[in-house]
Amino acid sequence: VEAEKKSGAPPFEVPEVRFTKLFINGCFVDAVSGRTFQTRDPRSGDVIASVAEGDREDVDLAVKAARDAFDHGEWPRMSGSVSFLNSIRDALAIAARVCRSNALQVGMGEKKIVSEMWQERGRIMTRFAELVERHADELAALESLDGGKLPAVTKAVDIGNAAGSLRYFAGAADKIHGETLKMRGQFQGCTLREPLGVAGLIIPWNFPTTMFTIKVAPALAAGCTVVVKPAEQTPLSALFLADLAKQAGIPDGVINVVPGFGPTAGAAIASHMDVDTVSFTGSTEVGRLIMEASARSNLKPVSLELGGKSPLIIFDDADLDMAVELAISANFFNKGEACVAASRVYVQESVYDRFEKKLAERMRSWVVGDPLNDPRADQGPQVDKAQYERVLSYIEHGKREGATLLTGGRPCGQKGYYIQPAVFTNVKEDMVIAKEEIFGPVMCLMKFKTVEEAIARANATRYGLGAGVVTRDMEVASRVVRSVRAGLVWVNCYFALSNDCPFGGRGMSGFGGDEGMQALDKYLAVKCVVAPLRGSPW
Ligand code: ADP
Repeated sequence: VEAEKKSGAPPFEVPEVRFTKLFINGCFVDAVSGRTFQTRDPRSGDVIASVAEGDREDVDLAVKAARDAFDHGEWPRMSGSVSFLNSIRDALAIAARVCRSNALQVGMGEKKIVSEMWQERGRIMTRFAELVERHADELAALESLDGGKLPAVTKAVDIGNAAGSLRYFAGAADKIHGETLKMRGQFQGCTLREPLGVAGLIIPWNFPTTMFTIKVAPALAAGCTVVVKPAEQTPLSALFLADLAKQAGIPDGVINVVPGFGPTAGAAIASHMDVDTVSFTGSTEVGRLIMEASARSNLKPVSLELGGKSPLIIFDDADLDMAVELAISANFFNKGEACVAASRVYVQESVYDRFEKKLAERMRSWVVGDPLNDPRADQGPQVDKAQYERVLSYIEHGKREGATLLTGGRPCGQKGYYIQPAVFTNVKEDMVIAKEEIFGPVMCLMKFKTVEEAIARANATRYGLGAGVVTRDMEVASRVVRSVRAGLVWVNCYFALSNDCPFGGRGMSGFGGDEGMQALDKYLAVKCVVAPLRGSPW
């Protein structure tokens, strides 16, 4: 990405917006109410498109389509991979018929058998992954247009991760199996792992393509059918992905996408009696509402990937240049719109001043600019006006509380939602900016003396999502790793992730994260089967 930026790679083209309706049962349709809402370009605030606004009635239709596809459709009944017995039997039958008819060409009937032999879930998901890769430029540009993200980075990180997730779980689709249990007496038991049913997937706006696929992929591999509610700020990529899923051969009704607002479409999914599980990524406040809705409706299991206020602890033996780069990317990657951003940076007292100086110097070359037209841009606009104003008001609050702005903290650009990234020094633990998730480019720098103090202060939060430690001393690193309360800990790196890394938190950062094999469990139910086993000598 750096090389591409330096070479002045050509700007990504502004994509044509092709899909703006709800995707239900394999078709793009208007909302029952006929209502639409506008999605805006954060570079200017201008309207990009009007998108069908789903509400309770549309969620009902989407859930019905998903229910039918689950109860009667082929998806949950398909094998995860080719069944050899069937394949060999079918192949021999075809060969025998071809010999009998002396024809060199395989007929339509045979072609159907051949294609059915290969219609297992994993293979279809792999085709979906290939289509995502083939459309990477278009998807990245769409994300940029709708969410202000840098297209080259989005292509490499978000789209790469999305295709990777589909491939990873495509590979898992034929590895879902239970256990054999040795019971007492003349009985034997086994466990079956069955798809849970209809999964409601409510996703946020900061990584729309990735969030879509990291939830859809394990659900599909498990054999579930899904209703996805993209965030109202960024509905376009989910609709684009729905079209690719259809092209890949995912049967109608298996993936449904209902754009709309949280308190209407989102709440309808969370409280739906026919949705069997909900996986949610978003704010802690809404996570609480999702759990309440589940408790009040059908007690569906929920998994929540929520907010954070992650610490990055920099010890005095660290390579300070590397530490500065890590602090910057841990805070300003994706304009700070990342749940796992390390917004509390603790620097050991003896190197604090040097660190601060280097950081201020490095931030001078940081470019805030138009992601689609300025290849030098390190940071684009915040996702929308509300988020932009929220971040600026936190910055004002920080100044009023007595923290000092080392750099940035001001709006910039003639139009749009651009903010110069803010670095606060003289931050006290009890200040609002050090406690609350800001979800924007705001870094809080704090001093510490000892390892014990750093650990205690890192853990002095109700969140528990990410954490980072920068040191050359592996004993210190492992003390921090073992003591910090978090779902992800990075040592001498930050944001290093891949499809096999479980991503989720503890405490008020939620439970039941995405990615990694454990994510499959969110979409599977265990059934225990017991039968007599006569004649067992045990
Ligand atoms: P943020 O504050 O970062 O915008 P939210 O938690 O509000 O994050 O939104 C994340 C997702 O949750 C979005 O798709 C949003 O529409 C949805 N959402 C918001 N409120 C509710 C709700 N009451 N019930 C269900 N989903 C909701």
